[in-house]
Amino acid sequence: MSDEPVPTFRSDVTVELVRSAATDTDVLWAARVSTKGEQSLETIGQDPARSAGLINYLMRDRHGTPFEHNSMTFFISAPIFVFREFHRHRSGWSYNEESGRYRELQPVFYLPGADRRLVQQGKPGRYEFVEGTAEQQKVVSEAMEASYRASYQAYREMLEAGVAREVARAVLPVGLFSSMYATCNARSLMHFLSLRTKRDNATVPSFPQREIEMVAEQMEEQWARLMPLTHAAFEEHGRVAP
Ligand SMILES: Cc1cc2nc3c(=O)[nH]c(=O)nc-3n(C[C@H](O)[C@H](O)[C@H](O)COP(=O)(O)OP(=O)(O)OC[C@H]3O[C@@H](n4cnc5c(N)ncnc54)[C@H](O)[C@@H]3O)c2cc1C
Repeated sequence: MSDEPVPTFRSDVTVELVRSAATDTDVLWAARVSTKGEQSLETIGQDPARSAGLINYLMRDRHGTPFEHNSMTFFISAPIFVFREFHRHRSGWSYNEESGRYRELQPVFYLPGADRRLVQQGKPGRYEFVEGTAEQQKVVSEAMEASYRASYQAYREMLEAGVAREVARAVLPVGLFSSMYATCNARSLMHFLSLRTKRDNATVPSFPQREIEMVAEQMEEQWARLMPLTHAAFEEHGRVAP
């Protein structure tokens, strides 16, 4: 077939912070309005220890609303199966994703990297994952590549026959990459991180799929740079969203 895009395979996900209005000071002024009224716009620099103490107290006692007066917009590229899990997070999130109706989807597919543990053990909800053998890694790469190539070829065949994109896309797999903007605030992000990362210091353990955790880790790293006191308090209090 002419001009058919060549399938490419990726093992990574990407997260770019495209815009933010999110600082620890935003938490402080929102919290202090309750006692100081409109005089509360004081900055962290004036009394850093007190500011850290107030953020810690809010986190510990789960006074959550002061953590909502901020905004972060991320541009995320990840497989569709990650977005399917991501979009379950309803509160404090806004999403816009590329369309399979209005544009032709490009053949970029997810292949687990060599460090992705392939074998699942244990009970539902508490699975542990262990390394796959070389043979299992080979089966995964070969089976996925063959399946991706075949489904993309079927997609293109339908497009070339004049079939609408929205109909033809039915054959594409959830390993296809998509992209979206996701906007949240620190409170909704903490709730997401508490569920989509696995950490030994978490008061409530979670067992997320590794690929959404890869997205969550990059988001957390970028958020921690914007709001270091809030992030430290989140860690200190067992990664429970306030
Ligand atoms: C490890 C793991 C495994 C999972 N497995 C499955 C699965 O097998 N099948 C499946 O369907 N889903 C599964 N999920 C998705 C899960 O059920 C949630 O949909 C997802 O984690 C989003 O959580 P949430 O509803 O708390 O978040 P949000 O939608 O962001 O909501 C945040 C909070 O707002 C409140 N809230 C939001 N909406 C309502 C409402 N309608 N009524 C009352 N309170 C509300 C709740 O307090 C909620 O915790 C899994 C999630 C994880 C982390």
